[in-house]
Amino acid sequence: MRQNFNYHTHTYRCGHAVLCEDGEYARAAIEAGFATLGFSDHAPYPDRSKPSDRMDYGQMDDYLRSIASLREKHADQLEIRVGFEMEYFPEYQDYIEKVLLKKGEYLICGQHYDHPDALFDYAGGQSDRERLLTYGRLIEEGLHRVPFLYLAHPDYFCAGIREFDDTCRQISHQICQAAAETGTPLEVNLNHLLKPKRHYADGDHCIYPFRQFWQIAQLYPVRCLYGYDAHDHAQLKNSAALLAACDTILEGLKLDFITQPLL
Ligand SMILES: [Zn+2]
Ligand SMILES: [Zn+2]
Repeated sequence: MRQNFNYHTHTYRCGHAVLCEDGEYARAAIEAGFATLGFSDHAPYPDRSKPSDRMDYGQMDDYLRSIASLREKHADQLEIRVGFEMEYFPEYQDYIEKVLLKKGEYLICGQHYDHPDALFDYAGGQSDRERLLTYGRLIEEGLHRVPFLYLAHPDYFCAGIREFDDTCRQISHQICQAAAETGTPLEVNLNHLLKPKRHYADGDHCIYPFRQFWQIAQLYPVRCLYGYDAHDHAQLKNSAALLAACDTILEGLKLDFITQPLL
């Protein structure tokens, strides 16, 4: 298997993953030949609730306990890690440092919104350039202020655009520059490869990986890794099809993929 570790796995607690026991992901990972499986469910905010997006704050301990017991149960077959996927917003700096980074083993940065109240989802088919620029600024600041294990779907901001223009190029450079400066790896996200395509100026394709972002990323000294972003345990058993679809999109690009587990 090309990459026998995955740090991007969700659970039913986020409200938009399949309803199954956490153990199903571990069993699927073992069956598929993974050596390391990291759970990184959407982190709760202590003062905001959105059950369709992330676990509630009150579910955090159950999540950590459940994954810890899986780790024990499968200790001889699979290295299990537990962390969170989290947006970066400066007002949560303290919470990130004092709670999330202490309770979890790692954090991945997954910026879906431009505001903690989820006022604007970049993937929601919107393309307001000012708000896309906010994405770049938040990522740049977040990577410098939080020791994220890696940046999830750095091309997420492209999801709602129709055309990759100068603003998109500027944001891509800003993100890749911040990743290079901080040594933060970039994730090639596998979650949308087999989902319905969208219309873009350069043809129909899946929302990410977004080739034009990665054309810029290859110019920077950054490392990459695949993230399954599994919201369904079946996804972990589908690596051949996912990687084949991914290779088609990234064909010819010179990306430096990580080959050893990060944790
Ligand atoms: Zn999710
Ligand atoms: Zn995710």
